[in-house]
Amino acid sequence: MIEFRDVTKVYPDGTEAVKDFSLKINDGELVTLIGPSGCGKTTTMKMVNRLTEPTSGIIYINDIDINDYNIHELRWNIGYVLQEIALFPHMTIEENIAVVPEMKKWKRKGIRERTKELLDMVGLDPSVYRQRMPIELSGGEQQRIGVIRALAANPDIILMDEPFSSLDPISRDQLQRDIRQLQREIRKTIVFVTHDMDEALALGDKVCLMKKGRIIQVDTPQQLILNP
Ligand code: ADP
Ligand code: ADP
Repeated sequence: MIEFRDVTKVYPDGTEAVKDFSLKINDGELVTLIGPSGCGKTTTMKMVNRLTEPTSGIIYINDIDINDYNIHELRWNIGYVLQEIALFPHMTIEENIAVVPEMKKWKRKGIRERTKELLDMVGLDPSVYRQRMPIELSGGEQQRIGVIRALAANPDIILMDEPFSSLDPISRDQLQRDIRQLQREIRKTIVFVTHDMDEALALGDKVCLMKKGRIIQVDTPQQLILNP
């Protein structure tokens, strides 16, 4: 469970990026954050894993102030998928997926099994893809690896910041299906940032509309379609 309580972020240059942001995201819920570029979506996500600090207000994970966690434990428990494909280019797909499990001292056998399971989950044949280099994959395939890498060590929370924006419509549809399936199967708590309303409505259990750093509406997709 993630809870934002009256969170405000003012950058040192005076930019008010997020203002009086209060939102509760329950376990197993997928919330989409939507709004125009510059409305504070990325800043909101970055505050959750302490890449940037709120100016005021508190963020809780499972009722504990995020500042009370050991920062490594906090980040290991949060999978972060970014817009730009950020696989390590000199590592194989398996090595990319293994980064966080290795930091958590998983055994080699466990990592191999987990890699196979994750590749199967997104329809990439493990015997083919495990040893490939990122450059040998298409953009859509790389994004799928980005998503499963974030899941590798079983984080409770997954943050996705416009993960599909650089993709063609077909890969995008495929990945949206993957995310919905993951959500149904493993019931992770997911915050998904987008500026595409169709994507927000298709994916979210709840949709949170933002404008100029503030929340202007939080609703289920059904309610939002009826009361836009
Ligand atoms: P996105 O909208 O894709 O999340 P960025 O987070 O890179 O893009 O940037 C969003 C906006 O924040 C841009 O207008 C950029 O100019 C501004 N910005 C990003 N970093 C800084 C910074 N360090 N100082 C001032 N403005 C910044
Ligand atoms: P979004 O993800 O919705 O595009 P951001 O959270 O990236 O929005 O940005 C929100 C506002 O904060 C924008 O006005 C942006 O220019 C500004 N901003 C983002 N990062 C910085 C930064 N590091 N320093 C100063 N201003 C920033």
